[in-house]
Amino acid sequence: MPDIIQLLPDNIANQIAAGEVIQRPASAVKELMENAVDAGATEIKLIVNDAGKALIQVIDNGKGMSETDARMSFERHATSKIKNIDDLFHIKTMGFRGEALASIAAVSQVELKSKKAEDITGTYIEIDNSVVKKQEAVAMQQGTSIAMKNLFFNVPARRNFLKSNPSELRHIVDEFIRVAMAFPDIFFSLTSNGQQVFHLEKGTLKQRIVQVLGNSYNAKLVSVQEQSDYMNIYGFVGKPETAKKTRGDQYFFVNNRFIKSAYLNHAVMGAFDEMIAKDGFPMYTLFIDLDPAQIDINVHPTKQEIKFEDERIVYAFVKSAVKHALAQFSITPTLDFELDSSIQHLDAVSKPFTDERKSSAASTSLYNTFSQKNQAHFIENKSELKHWKDLYEPAKGESGVLNTTAAKEIVETVTASREPGFVSLQALAAHPAIATGHLTQLHNTYIIVQNDTGFFVIHQQNAHERILYERFIKAVDGKPIAIQQNLFPITIALTTMDMGIVNELLHELHFLGYHLEPFGNNTFVIQGTPADVDQGNEKIAIEKILEQFKHFSSDLKYSKREKLFRSLAWQQAIKAGTPLTQKEMKILVEDLFSCNAPNITPNGKPTYTAFKKNELDKMFGR
Ligand code: ADP
Ligand code: MG
Repeated sequence: MPDIIQLLPDNIANQIAAGEVIQRPASAVKELMENAVDAGATEIKLIVNDAGKALIQVIDNGKGMSETDARMSFERHATSKIKNIDDLFHIKTMGFRGEALASIAAVSQVELKSKKAEDITGTYIEIDNSVVKKQEAVAMQQGTSIAMKNLFFNVPARRNFLKSNPSELRHIVDEFIRVAMAFPDIFFSLTSNGQQVFHLEKGTLKQRIVQVLGNSYNAKLVSVQEQSDYMNIYGFVGKPETAKKTRGDQYFFVNNRFIKSAYLNHAVMGAFDEMIAKDGFPMYTLFIDLDPAQIDINVHPTKQEIKFEDERIVYAFVKSAVKHALAQFSITPTLDFELDSSIQHLDAVSKPFTDERKSSAASTSLYNTFSQKNQAHFIENKSELKHWKDLYEPAKGESGVLNTTAAKEIVETVTASREPGFVSLQALAAHPAIATGHLTQLHNTYIIVQNDTGFFVIHQQNAHERILYERFIKAVDGKPIAIQQNLFPITIALTTMDMGIVNELLHELHFLGYHLEPFGNNTFVIQGTPADVDQGNEKIAIEKILEQFKHFSSDLKYSKREKLFRSLAWQQAIKAGTPLTQKEMKILVEDLFSCNAPNITPNGKPTYTAFKKNELDKMFGR
């Protein structure tokens, strides 16, 4: 067999979003486990000591590497998984950047053992600080074992940045579960400090879910399964009675890759609407498969966020599939489970997504079918996806507080490709005379507002998220939000972990209107809350903040403060579907346009789209 690894040409390498691959032990776990999956292993064992700080080892029975490949695998941009830029748009493997092993070798002491089935002996390589210390032949079974010791031994600053062992171990377990969930036909085990924590036999997805999340889900899972030309969805949701008070048992996989998506989460929550308490979190493990050309997984350095070519279709599909499943299992027999009427009659959605159709979907632009029949001008141009690098670039600037220049850049890139009918930010600035005389709300979600050259369609939730986010920044910069002192201070007991979070955020919370005082023994006294928190809801408000903060907190690229702002804005923003009064709409519109970056949410979603009157005139032959 020929060797299969080759160096990527510089130009491709540079086009690939780099990002820091290894930020903590859990990131190495993810990369090593994904490599084992990519190698076709049927058994993958993870061993960690000291929460991965002392040792992370992954042993697999996959295809192994030749002697040359074993050496080559530690070079930066060395990959056997893509060969040219086109491949980037059809990725079928978990890895593809050829950076993980190079990064791992740069920050730890690595011992690799690998053997291919057809070779007589395997290869053993020892690497220290990227330098090969030893290489020799070794007798072993087919497969690969990679052990990385003393993570960040040569980067003390990084090592000191690591959290406590329980916290790092929790991240490791999260990553382990995400991979294990996605591949129920692979055996996985996790051993920590000599103790086996997970032992997951091969089985069905349902069995895997119960193995991982616990027996309480046995007989409490509802199967979701829907196929269309555009995408397939399958998996399970927990029956409404299994909903929990904290998020956690919620997993989305797109083409078998775990992703985080508040947007898709919202779609599932929408399907559960009315069936669970407002503050309940249903369990779900859902797999979405669609043509890789319809997504861009390169928008995030650790590949946990992706961009859909048309996320509205995915949203509608997910929501109706879950509704359908819940209805079929006669949990709510009267439910209306039709797809959004604008989408359901399309062939693309109503016909099954067979292999044949998959390939024809890839060649004929399916995208056009959707866009021409439905609101073509709302949908972004296909070429935008190809600009994933541009989209990725501004995100780099997001680490600190609000970066308006980056925000403007994003909107300008988007604007350029959204002709006709899109007014640029400059054009808006030149026509601030927005008429807030009478405002129209559509679908309890969109606010229409006009100025003398056209009109804007504002998404109320996105807009409010932006407004709140900037308000929070200002609060900490010297315009604190007023605190309403409680007449009868309330105590709140927290877990040790939550105590830690609150202690770290005490200062910021105070500026945001939450006055908390430590009271010993894992309790705080809530002395005051912002005026808009109703009496009696103080505890819930704090619990929600913690919940949201934890949800956002695996996102390492943001500071604590930034995470708090983002999670609070996200949590408190008025939701789509909420009817608004004239007065509320007026305030929202005025607040939005006095923001520094009125055009996008902190996460980069548009808050409004603008249309020019003269474009409308043209459409009507005037
Ligand atoms: P990527 O996964 O993006 O290709 P990595 O740095 O993770 O980059 O790995 C580099 C290469 O090393 C892979 O493309 C693969 O050919 C090889 N490799 C890594 N881990 C394994 C493994 N467990 N089994 C077989 N080959 C592996
Ligand atoms: Mg890899």
